[in-house]
Amino acid sequence: MAYTQFIDGALTTGSAKESWVNYNPANNNVLGEVCQATEEEIDAAICSAEKAFRVWKNKTGAERGRVLLKTAEILRLRLEKIASLETQDVGKPISESLAVDVSSAADALEYFGGIAATIHGDFFDLKNAFGYTRPEPLGICAGIGAWNYPIQIAAWKAAPALACGNSMIFKPSEFTPATALELAKAFIEAGAPAGLFNVVQGDGRVGAMLTNHPQIAKVSLTGSVSTGKKIFAGAANQLKKVTLELGGKSPLIIFEDADIHNAVSAAMLANFYTQGEVCSNGTRVFVQRKIFDSFLKQLKERTEKIRLGDPTDPDTQMGAVISKAHLEKVIRFIDSGKSAGATLLTGGFRPEKDFKGRDITAGNFLTPAIFTDCEDSMEICKEEIFGPVLSILTFDTEEEVIERANNTDYGLAAGVFTNDIKRGHRVIHELQAGTCWINNYNITPVELPFGGYKQSGLGRENSFAAIQHYTQLKSVYVELGNVESPY
Ligand code: NAP
Repeated sequence: MAYTQFIDGALTTGSAKESWVNYNPANNNVLGEVCQATEEEIDAAICSAEKAFRVWKNKTGAERGRVLLKTAEILRLRLEKIASLETQDVGKPISESLAVDVSSAADALEYFGGIAATIHGDFFDLKNAFGYTRPEPLGICAGIGAWNYPIQIAAWKAAPALACGNSMIFKPSEFTPATALELAKAFIEAGAPAGLFNVVQGDGRVGAMLTNHPQIAKVSLTGSVSTGKKIFAGAANQLKKVTLELGGKSPLIIFEDADIHNAVSAAMLANFYTQGEVCSNGTRVFVQRKIFDSFLKQLKERTEKIRLGDPTDPDTQMGAVISKAHLEKVIRFIDSGKSAGATLLTGGFRPEKDFKGRDITAGNFLTPAIFTDCEDSMEICKEEIFGPVLSILTFDTEEEVIERANNTDYGLAAGVFTNDIKRGHRVIHELQAGTCWINNYNITPVELPFGGYKQSGLGRENSFAAIQHYTQLKSVYVELGNVESPY
């Protein structure tokens, strides 16, 4: 099959000058051919998005909301089909795509569909005059996605953008071209004007073309810090607005009074869900010295029981990493940890059989790895690995762990486990991270803002906070008296 562009309400026919093969990470079988969008196709996408914007911005919030809600309903009806496409493209277990990926995309559409009619300005009584503000849409927004949560990322960007009256051109990652197309089809079926949500396929060059295009008003990226910096620099040229959802090396701090079973569950979720390919993962697990042995014992035992294998099997708990190149990168990090002196307690190797004895040597599988004897200065404790690699660090005091946790350029997320309610809040308030959890990890309800401090990003997704990132405020002064003039 060919993954083409979705422009002006329909898939293009796919006469691409350039294309590449999309592989299934679980077996490296060919899924299809992805057609890189040409400059002409990008111009066509801009032209149709502009046309749709003119219609869409004049709809009421309630009218826009209805289309978003209907789109969510269509996604939920197609849950199994879309989840299966996601599992094929990403390599994540079907149990995850069914439970999280599609439904969190639908959640965002429902949330922003629901609040579209409530987006409003303010009124100011000014004695013989009054003023009011209008949150107006920006125009055509570009959404650029990473490969770990393709439909979720597309919907987290499209839902607030469209609720605010913008149109969007979305570029999925070159590794995961499928499900953004499903979202585009669902919008059309839900009654969105053609061009309101276009999809262009391509690598970073297409992302750069969108970023630099004078008719794009805003760029929202989910990706790495290095891509974020390029996009920020490109957007700065034209003073475009940006939302940057970038990487992290987040701390998960476990105090000695914590419920150890829950803390182990969270540490596993924070490192092994989606094969560890989650931006907000708590990859630096700080454990207070007194509970180190019991924590480690439980963590090792439970990690070794993770059912790794064929992602399409509903019993599978861990799938394959996105590509051979990424697998090699993760293995290089594991080698670097070993040579720096950390102890690889378990995992970190390529398995031949899965949990049901099936041969999985053709896929990009890696067993979940736990490192102990880590030091803050080691590469594995400083760099984002984006794979199933957990590093344990021990600590003694609250002051010490806060300082060490904050000693990073990243600031996406952080977690604290303690049964001392005062300490939980006190420590979280000191951590330099945008998204934090007390006694849980990686829970991202649409009601709460999501985003990073420091080099982990700019702006926020989800929640009402996203609205200000997709609108611009117009102030209107209305005179009720005479114009006072010195002339
Ligand atoms: P990436 O390499 O930065 O790519 C992200 C997207 O940007 C892709 O669509 C990519 O295109 C595109 N791109 C690359 N160069 C570009 C340029 N010069 N201009 C415009 N677009 C460009 O990241 P990834 O490997 O896909 O994803 C992993 C990263 O995403 C990790 O760092 C992870 O932490 C981060 N992430 C963050 C969040 C969050 O919410 N904070 C969520 C998920 C992932 P191609 O890949 O198609 O070439």
